[in-house]
This record gives sequence, structure tokens and C-alpha cells, in this order.
Amino acid sequence: MRLLMVEDEESLARSLGQGLRAEGYAVDVAADGLTGLDLARSGRYDLLVLDLMLPGLNGFRICRQLRAEEHSVPILMLTAKNGEYDEAEALDCGADDFLAKPFSYVVLTARLRALLRRGAAGRPAVLAAADLRIDPAARRCTVDDTELRLTAKEFGVLECLLRRPDQAVPKSDILDAVWDSAFRGDINIVEVYVAALRRKLDRAGAHARIETVRGIGYRLAPDAR
Ligand code: CA
Repeated sequence: MRLLMVEDEESLARSLGQGLRAEGYAVDVAADGLTGLDLARSGRYDLLVLDLMLPGLNGFRICRQLRAEEHSVPILMLTAKNGEYDEAEALDCGADDFLAKPFSYVVLTARLRALLRRGAAGRPAVLAAADLRIDPAARRCTVDDTELRLTAKEFGVLECLLRRPDQAVPKSDILDAVWDSAFRGDINIVEVYVAALRRKLDRAGAHARIETVRGIGYRLAPDAR
């Protein structure tokens, strides 16, 4: 899940970013409204967290502009405490939800999960291939009915493959979906996570297999036995 946070308070952006990355989101941060709007327009994000008061362009205007351009990405707006007019206006400009500052991190992440469940149009809630099922909003992965414990990144890699079952998914697409734009490491990091996933799937006796597609990346084969 790629998330864009448009927030000019550096320390808040940093601590939220750390927390959300630990939960497996790929998080990009924009510190002003114009950069935020530009990035959001790329259509690369599954979720937007939008502060209201921003240099350049405020959250209302960003939200209005995105909706006018028919971007349907779910938007959570951060408003001021007791700002009931702000909250009403946030919804009027097309935000899906709002949260008043200061907010609890637990509530923020629960709201984000709820937005993901409601989902951008057409995104299936549960992904499955053979005996393997994952529920991205609940961060749950099962083989038959046994839960598989995955790290946040392992989950992200598997989700990326399950979204395109039986297709060769380039390593660069996986990197793009699971690691944030600030990642400057080696693309072969993906191999490390695929190796770990294969071990876990094997141990669970899963029929679904991750195959290597030489020169491209990986393919999730529903039943390679
Ligand atoms: Ca602000």
C-alpha cells in the first residue's frame, strides 16, 4: 500500500511516517501543498493523508482539485481541534474522512484501514490464489485456514504478486509498490523477501508458489505442483 502524507509539520510527518512504514505502508511525504498535489496527481497512491493548513495550497484546495480531475484515491484530512466547520468543509470538498489534531495514532491507523476496506473503486477486499488468501486491510494471510505470520514487507511483496496472479511481475514494480520513493538500495532486496516468503509458504504446505521469471521478476502460480 502506497500512502502519500502531505504535512508541513516536520516532526509529525517524521513520526507518523516511521509508524506507518513499520506497519508496511510505503510512505511518501510532501511538505507543501503544491508538491502534494503534484505527487497525488501521479495516481500512484492507495491513500492520501492531507493536512489542512499547508504552505502553497491548503488541503481543501488540493482535495477539490483532485476530485475535479476525477482522482478517486481515498483521502483522510487532518483538521484543527474543534474545527467543526473545517470538518464539514473537508467532507464537502470530497475528503472521505477527517481527524482532528491532535489525534491518537491508534485511531489514525484504524481510520486508514477502514478507508482501505471501503477501497478505491473496484479493488477486491480479499485476494486469493489456490489455498492462499490475504486480506490487505486486516493484514491477514492464511494458507487453508492457518494463519501465516508475515513481516510488513513480506506481506507487501506477496500482496503485490497476488494482485496480478499468474502474471510475470517485474521486480521494479514490486519495489515501487512496497518500498517508498526514498529507498536508494539495491533492487535485489526483493529477492531476499521472496526467499523468505517461499520458505514460509513451503512450511505451511501451500499449493501456491512464487516462481522466478528469468530476466523479469516473479509470478505467483496458483498451483505449481
Ligand atoms: Ca499544517
